[in-house]
Amino acid sequence: MFERELPDAEVVISQPFWPAYLTAERIAKAPKLRLAITAGIGSDHVDLAAAIDHGITVAEVTYSNSVSVSEHVVMMILSLVRNYLPAHQWVLDGGWNIADCVARSYDLEAMNVGTVAAGRIGTAVLRRLKPFDVRLHYTDRHRLPAEVEAELDATFHPDVQSLVRECDVVTINAPLHPETENMFDDTLIGQMKRGAYLVNTARGKICDRDAVVRALESGQLAGYAGDVWFPQPAPRDHPWRTMPHHGMTPHTSGTSLSAQARYAAGTREILECYLAGRPIRDEYLIVEGGQLAGTGKHSYSSK
Ligand code: NDP
Repeated sequence: MFERELPDAEVVISQPFWPAYLTAERIAKAPKLRLAITAGIGSDHVDLAAAIDHGITVAEVTYSNSVSVSEHVVMMILSLVRNYLPAHQWVLDGGWNIADCVARSYDLEAMNVGTVAAGRIGTAVLRRLKPFDVRLHYTDRHRLPAEVEAELDATFHPDVQSLVRECDVVTINAPLHPETENMFDDTLIGQMKRGAYLVNTARGKICDRDAVVRALESGQLAGYAGDVWFPQPAPRDHPWRTMPHHGMTPHTSGTSLSAQARYAAGTREILECYLAGRPIRDEYLIVEGGQLAGTGKHSYSSK
């Protein structure tokens, strides 16, 4: 259906949860395409370099689901560290196996928790975790304002290697682009503390699929959770469905009903601007006029 309509399409609206991948090949077959709207956040399902080359505008609904994702991240960190899902399974199975339930259960308090990227979601995660009396860490291409760093008492790391060496829990909140693709491979996961937890609600491809499985099997990672996969929908035999100590969900964190209402309104606003020939808000732009623009210029790289 998508392939059939694409040659005539001027606008493609896709959400990241079940993405319409706009690859370079598909963009080449869509000569009329002028605008690709992401109903949500994260436009990596569009080949941004091809969009730049073809003068296609790419826009997303900045901020629409940042809090939704940050809440999901906190939930997943707690569920891994407290061993929630296996304990819940004992209830479903009719057991009362206290020792089994708590064999891998710890307090989050006093743990070192770090975010890779402190943008809208990463900062919201730090703010939400602060009351848990954890030690907060972050790495990002731009340092947070000094007053925010002080408010959060967060330690800045100049690179991801330095962050992972100190953290018991790492959460990934960077966009998928050439700098972050496959960032968490065997080497970087090997530099994490043994038995650390990794939560990735950013994009599946930021982690090497098989390296994650190996690390869970060897005990290098104590747990992995997130909601992002590659490809999406994840095939039935995707190893992240069956690997040990995981807390995966389908791609849902940014599409709570609350988030849907916000990104539907933003999508409508972008469409109305486009149809009326008015400029699209700068913070919604990822690519415009043959270059990265707006939020895209700040958060993405094209090479
Ligand atoms: P932002 O653009 O606000 O923040 C992204 C941050 O990542 C920026 O601060 C950016 O740095 C930083 N960054 C980029 N590259 C690197 C790098 N190599 N190392 C460290 N930091 C880096 O985005 P959001 O917080 O709104 O969203 C982040 C991502 O989360 C989205 O791109 C999307 O992939 C994902 N997401 C997932 C959802 C879900 O449902 N699971 C929903 C919404 C988003 P700087 O700008 O300082 O250079």
